[in-house]
Amino acid sequence: MIMGSTGSIGTQTLAVCRQDPEELMVTGLAAGGNLPLLEEQIREFHPVLACISDREDAAELCRRLLESGFAARFNGENDTSIAASGTVTILWGMDGLLAMAAYPAYDIFVGAIVGMIGIRPTIAAIRAGKDIALANKETLVCAGQIILPLVKSCGVHLYPVDSEHSAIFQCLQGAVLPDGTRNPVDHILLTASGGPFRNKTKEELATVQLEDALKHPNWSMGRKITVDSSTLVNKGLEVMEARWLFDVPYDRISVVIQPESVIHSMVLFEDGAVIAQLGAADMRIPIQYALLYPKRKNLGAKRLDFASLKEIHFDLPDPERFPALELAYEAGKAGGAMPTIYNAANEFAVSRFLHRQADWSSIAESIALAMKHIPNTEAATVDEILRIQQQTYDYLRAAR
Ligand code: NDP
Repeated sequence: MIMGSTGSIGTQTLAVCRQDPEELMVTGLAAGGNLPLLEEQIREFHPVLACISDREDAAELCRRLLESGFAARFNGENDTSIAASGTVTILWGMDGLLAMAAYPAYDIFVGAIVGMIGIRPTIAAIRAGKDIALANKETLVCAGQIILPLVKSCGVHLYPVDSEHSAIFQCLQGAVLPDGTRNPVDHILLTASGGPFRNKTKEELATVQLEDALKHPNWSMGRKITVDSSTLVNKGLEVMEARWLFDVPYDRISVVIQPESVIHSMVLFEDGAVIAQLGAADMRIPIQYALLYPKRKNLGAKRLDFASLKEIHFDLPDPERFPALELAYEAGKAGGAMPTIYNAANEFAVSRFLHRQADWSSIAESIALAMKHIPNTEAATVDEILRIQQQTYDYLRAAR
């Protein structure tokens, strides 16, 4: 079940499925607004369910499919009990996503929607007893306190898709002791490319443009995460994600700049040994590891070529030029609603930057402002988290 099938992670997940159709059958595809691509994906992968944000788009999608003789049905009800293979049942909106997530006949849920919209479908899938392959880091950052206990009580597996967290997950495979406990972790060393602005001075950063921020040196990703990489917000979100996934306190999670994106992350153990995971910068590798775990297969992902690589460099992040990383540690340590305030402020500011309504440096400034002025709460429920998200948007809109 792929949520966000038309995005960067979604299309790469489908590329993996295309390579291994025997093992990876697609049950459902969900998109936001990209109707043409969703239609194309439905024709190729023949899912039982498909979902799109807008009701009119759902009706239009059904009409287009039927016109060409493709078996499809849409009645606007988001009722999956009538779904059957051979006909795609079209759903719409958040209710559609929730119905898809709770659909009984599938094994693994791929969370590849961007933003906090992914929280509720992920929870619905966990409650339905599904294993989760999670790319949508905002879900863990804002609702880790709800998701992790739920994963445990529902007895499902949570597999990281983010390349760094997949790397840490793989490094920790060697840490399990015969009695099932884990060798203590001294530090998680989360690697970062440093983004496109790694070598820019503070003065140069004041004038960077949207086009510059969208040019990631190593990875091809969606627009929002590409901007997040340029501010190091992405790394900040990953620090919080790592805290939840691996149950390691913040003072044992460090960020190391590794500009070639060859080492995807490392774990330092108590005896001083460091285990690292390396590979080409190809998201299909962590995606297929999450989908096929613990199996590994050659599904055509890129290979690392050490001969042409020759060197690997290391550096530390500069908190003065990239303050958003320190703010993430602050938000994570404060806990409760503060990670949501951090994330929502970033979503708000990045959206303005993407629409050329604000400059790049306003992103970290907006996060700092929201964290300073919006009171922290426990954020124990999804409703509360979504209320804080809205409160943060409203605050920043009024503060402009
Ligand atoms: P993209 O922007 O490329 O894709 C986002 C996807 O979410 C699209 O399919 C989009 O649909 C869908 N979507 C947006 N809003 C809705 C909605 N309301 N209902 C249903 N679907 C919706 O993002 P990425 O693939 O880059 O990132 C996805 C997530 O994975 C993010 O949380 C990101 O941080 C994380 N991630 C991404 C990595 C990458 O390499 N790209 C690496 C690690 C993590 P549509 O296009 O049809 O509107």
